[in-house]
Amino acid sequence: MNLELSEEQSAVRRLAKDFVDREIVPHATDWDRAESVDRSVVGKLGELGFLGLTIDEEYGGSGGDHLAYCLVTEELGRADSSVRGIVSVSLGLVAKTIAAWGDEEQKRRWLPGLTSGARLGCFGLTEPGTGSDAGNLSTRAVRDGGDWLLSGTKMFITNGTWADLALVFARTGGAPGHKGVSAFLVPADSPGFGRRTLHGKLGLRGQATAELVLEDVRVPGSAMLGPEGKGFSVAMSALAKGRMSVAAGCVGIAQAALDAAVGYAKEREQFGKPIARHQLVQELLADIDVDVDAARLLTWRVADLVDRGEPFAVASSKAKLFASEAAVRAANNALQVFGGYGYIDEYPVGKLLRDARVMTLYEGTSQIQKLVIGRELTGVSAF
Ligand code: FAD
Repeated sequence: MNLELSEEQSAVRRLAKDFVDREIVPHATDWDRAESVDRSVVGKLGELGFLGLTIDEEYGGSGGDHLAYCLVTEELGRADSSVRGIVSVSLGLVAKTIAAWGDEEQKRRWLPGLTSGARLGCFGLTEPGTGSDAGNLSTRAVRDGGDWLLSGTKMFITNGTWADLALVFARTGGAPGHKGVSAFLVPADSPGFGRRTLHGKLGLRGQATAELVLEDVRVPGSAMLGPEGKGFSVAMSALAKGRMSVAAGCVGIAQAALDAAVGYAKEREQFGKPIARHQLVQELLADIDVDVDAARLLTWRVADLVDRGEPFAVASSKAKLFASEAAVRAANNALQVFGGYGYIDEYPVGKLLRDARVMTLYEGTSQIQKLVIGRELTGVSAF
């Protein structure tokens, strides 16, 4: 793997860096306090092509490879994980999944809106009773003539109250576990589609996380994404790439923690000198720095595998596992460097720690990533 970025990759990284420093970083604290990012940022992301990365131009996408996608995702994560998550879900989990599994009509109907930012997507897999054990979900889809009627509850759905389109996983057959699951593209303005914003999150406060309640939501047969009974494969393929995106966002968090901690350590004086001159403070900074590098390299490796058409799912689990734990460590170490000032939200590191904390939980907890890696090592599934 060549670690030198191409001209195009460097340009897209610069574009993302300039954009987030101008349009997101100055507002991140206010959006966190208000529990909502300014939704107009979504349209701006669309204009720059950041919601269409890796999607074919004929469907409104902006092309680019997965390393470019990771570079942009890292910058968004450095600026505000709430915004990063909006993109990772609408583009990473929904648009890319339609591009991979959709028929021509589905791609033409949904992708231009999602890639421009005119529409947002959400990904409805988790339910109140099934998180890690997603294959046992209980939302049902029942045939009614040529249509399907969907009923059930989805929990913790990112973009849930903002989305125009929900990718919903529901049980269509009597087959037990994941074999009876199918995927559906459900317009969020369908009758019977209810949603409720979840407040009081520890982090990602700017994001519209919701509970979705579907009561006999009618969709045509053409709303099924992928073959009947293959919904779990659709979900897992989405999450395999999604974990790379979470990992890239975590690199951004860790980088932001490093930048903030180094800057503060050079300015803050104790015992008559900048705290940067105390060796134990340098140790904290060095630990963050190594976490940033290691997480970034693991993430770039996944992007490289995807772009070369090689198997990448286990590498993606490794990157997500390491980068999410590293982001929590890095933000926590940065907070230590800030001392008491790190504990109030006039400084950025407390938010970084709160935002980082969910990364070891969603898109598969750290324990689930270890089971994926363990299965690969032993050939034995512990699920
Ligand atoms: P559980 O599955 O109940 O796990 C609880 C604990 O048990 C964890 O520590 C877990 O690791 C451990 N555990 C479970 N099974 C095993 C096992 N076999 N071996 C070892 N340990 C195990 N979901 C969506 O579908 N779409 C979204 O957009 C979305 N966004 C989210 C946004 C936020 C802010 C949050 C908090 C969650 C979001 N989720 C979303 C849900 C998320 O993916 C789940 O919370 C996650 O998969 C864990 O499920 P759970 O919370 O039910 O925990």
